[in-house]
Amino acid sequence: MSCPICKSINTGKVGHNTYYCSDCLLEFTENGGEVQIFYIDAEGSSFPLKDKETALKVAEACKNGNDLVQEEKLEELILKSETLER
Ligand SMILES: [Zn+2]
Repeated sequence: MSCPICKSINTGKVGHNTYYCSDCLLEFTENGGEVQIFYIDAEGSSFPLKDKETALKVAEACKNGNDLVQEEKLEELILKSETLER
């Protein structure tokens, strides 16, 4: 499956319906056509990103090695936990 963010084919399956893009350094899940993108932090926690546009920004930040993905900034990019539990 190609990456929904950058269209790269450098993706690998890491779990059930879960893929990792080695260009974006992001994980994504595909569920009946619904794609959810996750940012994985240095400690291995995954954070669901709001949308593809957000994921693109995060991917760019990861590639450039800048600090966009600081915690306060990340808060704005991820889905709120109450959305997650549904
Ligand atoms: Zn990608």
